Amino acid sequence: SVRVRFCPSPTGSPHVGLARTALFNWAFARHHGGSIVFRMEDTDKERSTQESYDAILDVWRWLGLTWDEGIEVGGPHGPYKQSERTEIYRDVLARLAASSFTYDCFCTTDEVTARRKAAGSKVQGYDGFCRDLSAEQRSAFEGEGRRPVVRFRMPEGSITWTDLVRGDVTFETEFVPDFALCRANGDPLYTLVNPVDDALMEISHVLRGEDLLSSTPRQIALHGALVELGVSSAVPEFGHLPYVMGEGNKKLSKRDPEAHLLAYRDQGFLPEGLLNYLALLGWAIAADRDVFTLAEMVESFEIRDVNPNPARFDLKKAEAINADHMRMLSVEELTHRVLPHLKAAGVVGDPVHDSDAQLLELAMPLVAERMNKLTEAAPMLGFLFVDEADFTRHDEIDDAGREVVRAAHEALAGLATWSTAAIEEALRSALIEGLGLKPRLAFGPVRIAATGRKVSPPLFESLELLGRERSLARLAGALS
Ligand code: GLU
Repeated sequence: SVRVRFCPSPTGSPHVGLARTALFNWAFARHHGGSIVFRMEDTDKERSTQESYDAILDVWRWLGLTWDEGIEVGGPHGPYKQSERTEIYRDVLARLAASSFTYDCFCTTDEVTARRKAAGSKVQGYDGFCRDLSAEQRSAFEGEGRRPVVRFRMPEGSITWTDLVRGDVTFETEFVPDFALCRANGDPLYTLVNPVDDALMEISHVLRGEDLLSSTPRQIALHGALVELGVSSAVPEFGHLPYVMGEGNKKLSKRDPEAHLLAYRDQGFLPEGLLNYLALLGWAIAADRDVFTLAEMVESFEIRDVNPNPARFDLKKAEAINADHMRMLSVEELTHRVLPHLKAAGVVGDPVHDSDAQLLELAMPLVAERMNKLTEAAPMLGFLFVDEADFTRHDEIDDAGREVVRAAHEALAGLATWSTAAIEEALRSALIEGLGLKPRLAFGPVRIAATGRKVSPPLFESLELLGRERSLARLAGALS
């Protein structure tokens, strides 16, 4: 059965690459009816923070990337925080050592470098010096007060796997030196805990970023040892997802502002819009189609269709796709999604006043088609909810515009019924026919006078919603 994992390290703010990897794992597992295990790789005590841990969970929940087993939900392979699994790693290390899959290494980095240099070797990393120490050599090192690290003994020959994304990949182990599994103080390293947990948690497929490709031969060798020891029953399959490139064709880095996931939520992206965009970073549902739902992705997702070539991150495209998802929501749903942003912007109170809720229900259909992000509702609708005393214009009206507003005020003041149709008729006849203006020049100044902005919901409807009194007061205000 398919078992995949989310295994972020809680170091820093969660970024785009992390979510893309999580999404592909999620879609793969859901497509195959498999399970997702969520473990936190928090063994790096210096770099792991609670803040990062919380932010990762926040983002996962916001995106709706669900998991079946792991942190928060529990399961048979816990604990799911690596910082709580020290005993487990110690036990596995002891078993590896007992069968000579590992050895103690007393060398310092300087000694290794000096030996490599003396031998004229181009190979980087450890040279195997301590592989077969005699008891005397060992006690001599210990006598010097040296404390060993534990190294894995890489097998001779080569390591080949059929990568789920890139096909056959081979590494000659001559170029993959014996690697450390824990520090001299006993702290286990990523090189140990990541594959050991994949083995113990019975992970069947490891889908992760290409940056980890070079660690895969080491992990496959270690998995081989764990299978031999009976710790697990099979080596997982591996698939390496393409790099995500940012500006200037450089790898998108955590330092790039568009890499930070929480910013998308705060900017008013829909989770389904962002996920749809992230899906395109290496995958396509069809050659000519960019917009799809998560359910459609789950149905069509095949890991072999992932493109191994680097994907380019394009914020404009992400926004366009988000806009398409906004159009797919019902007005009720859109209102529900917009509400937290209106509250955050102070446009409506929390809880929302009944009269504001009614006004919002009437106003949302006017802006539903015009927004690309949820945050755009606040500046567009704010004019309806602001008290007359607090109303300010954000855009300017020039002298010619003021003449237009004066004529508009005159035409509207005498209106018998305050309806969209009547308002439109009165303004058209006064401004377009009467003053001979083009629509943009006629309605632009009126729009600014009534809503404060050049961009607003449709003008006549807006005036109707605003009501006679408030509309006339604002037009008059623009004249003084
Ligand atoms: N915790 C590792 C990381 O965030 C996971 C690597 C992996 O997927 O194997 O880089």
